[in-house]
Amino acid sequence: MTYDTNNIFAKILRGEVSCERVYEDDHVLAIKDINPKAPIHVLALPKGPYTSLMDFSIRATADEIGLFFQTVTKVAELLKLHDNGFRLVSNTGSDSGQVVPHFHVHLLGGKQIGSMAEG
Ligand code: AMP
Repeated sequence: MTYDTNNIFAKILRGEVSCERVYEDDHVLAIKDINPKAPIHVLALPKGPYTSLMDFSIRATADEIGLFFQTVTKVAELLKLHDNGFRLVSNTGSDSGQVVPHFHVHLLGGKQIGSMAEG
């Protein structure tokens, strides 16, 4: 899939759309989800133009991938999710219901968040 430079996260990364930022460095931005599904619902996205987890795993370097997931756990610590735990989700492709075609992970926590998925 070709990267769509007009997707909402690309616009947020360019500063064209506002967001509630919880963390940012040269490679990663973490923002509050606009439609939270848990008391803490944060999205972490690499700044590079990757459409999905599949695309990220194929085109990013091992260093980029490692750094991204290290940063995600750092964000979980910043959000104080590490003691009680959290769920990490990445919707990938149409069956998952992925809406925004810029790779991101959802960090969900702040309460017991129930079972994983409905059948
Ligand atoms: P998905 O692509 O299925 O992983 O879901 C995309 C997520 O992005 C949804 O949970 C939306 O609520 C969230 N979202 C969409 N637009 C924004 C925005 N402008 N700021 C923050 N979160 C957003």
